[in-house]
Amino acid sequence: MVNPATGAVLATVPATGPAEADAAIGRAERAYQGWRRVAPGDRARLLRRFAAEVDAHRDELAGLEVANAGHTIGNARWEAGNVRDVLDYYAGAPERLTGRQIPVPGGLDVTFHEPLGVVGVIVPWNFPMPIAAWGFAPALAAGNTVVLKPAELTPLTAIRLGELALAAGLPPDVFTVLPGRGAVVGGAFVRHPAVRKLCFTGSTEVGTRIMAGCAERVKRVTLELGGKSANIVFADADLERAAAAAPYAVFDNAGQDCCARSRILVQRPVYDRFLELLEPAVRAVRVEDPARETAEMGPLISAPHRDRVASYVDGAEVAFTGSCPDGPGFWHPPTVLLARSPTERHWREELFGPVVSVLPFEDEAEALRLANDTEYGLSGSIWTRDVGRAIRVARGVEAGNLSVNSHSSVRYWTPFGGMKQSGLGRELGPDALHAFTDVKNVFIATEDGGREGYGDDE
Ligand code: NAD
Repeated sequence: MVNPATGAVLATVPATGPAEADAAIGRAERAYQGWRRVAPGDRARLLRRFAAEVDAHRDELAGLEVANAGHTIGNARWEAGNVRDVLDYYAGAPERLTGRQIPVPGGLDVTFHEPLGVVGVIVPWNFPMPIAAWGFAPALAAGNTVVLKPAELTPLTAIRLGELALAAGLPPDVFTVLPGRGAVVGGAFVRHPAVRKLCFTGSTEVGTRIMAGCAERVKRVTLELGGKSANIVFADADLERAAAAAPYAVFDNAGQDCCARSRILVQRPVYDRFLELLEPAVRAVRVEDPARETAEMGPLISAPHRDRVASYVDGAEVAFTGSCPDGPGFWHPPTVLLARSPTERHWREELFGPVVSVLPFEDEAEALRLANDTEYGLSGSIWTRDVGRAIRVARGVEAGNLSVNSHSSVRYWTPFGGMKQSGLGRELGPDALHAFTDVKNVFIATEDGGREGYGDDE
């Protein structure tokens, strides 16, 4: 593992091999039989204890993420706190996972939300802690066991979370962290028959392959994939606020955020004024050693990734840039590009770095057309003082998470996920739990000699 702020080697983590991955899945399958039978109140208590362990080690986890992923210390503390909160939230679920009683003649009909078995969670490098928790917390709460594969570049916090689960008293093999290669460990999750559901966050390209592999085995799948989200600024908006907030909507986590509002659409009459206001806001973003309390943006995850991001800037029309440290580490300054047309590569592709493209639009219809002119549909923002327009546009943008006069996307108690090729299914919030269960219907006859078979509908 390499510290992206310095390029120095941090730790070496052995990769799980194919036989080891299969053996771990086999152990998780056996552990499932016990875990699903743990009384709901006891399962809840264990998850609360797990949350308390995470809380007690919040600074340690945050420090690991600063060193391994280059996240700013402020963000990393929030991320560890988010794992705690997601665990606490779903710790409320086991006793509330109720089914229904449906009126039928001749008996009693009830439904159960049964756990699935072993759930495989595959995590990308950009938010190693929260994205892991969004999968494992509801999966465990619903009575599944979990095998989790962190990204190759960022396994350290996930490994520590696995240790904290054991320290909290979760039985062995209920939650297993398996660092290793995507094709090897992730591939084992797709192939092994005991893994009944895959929860994948990462690129649309890999997600598509995983979905195809799951289809062959009718495995359930939740996909959280890429994004190229729009930040739409109408002429009647509070321009000062919109411009001051825009850098943080895209440069947070150095732009390595699936929800990054990396396309700014500005209504023509205020286009010049918005850029005037945006420039000082971009120059003010503090890009520095992510361990410093004042840091607002750190480095990119790796040298190849930095080079890939830089390739989008080459030949593009640069409006202005912020600054970043020289020397070792994988730094790239916050950069604002002017899109000459919506066909430009930097306007269309998810570049996953601190680069934002700006394009003017004429009216509401054009704003919607441009915002929706992408196969992605994850998030987006709308800045206007007109309530009717805010609601119309929010309903019109094809994306799963929208905010008006704000850039917030993620709360652990509201649903999160993508439309179109940004994903399938929803994480977080009250409904995510059901993505880790199957509904079972049971009919219990109360009358002697009730008719058997299909069509008992009278
Ligand atoms: P990636 O798709 O390369 O890798 C993601 C994970 O999949 C890693 O753990 C990797 O090892 C694993 N993997 C790779 N090949 C595999 C295979 N053949 N079988 C099984 N697993 C395999 O993505 P990345 O580069 O780590 O992350 C960046 C991407 O993630 C971006 O596109 C970003 O938008 C997306 N993302 C989406 C969300 C969301 O919630 N929608 C959140 C964060 C990141």
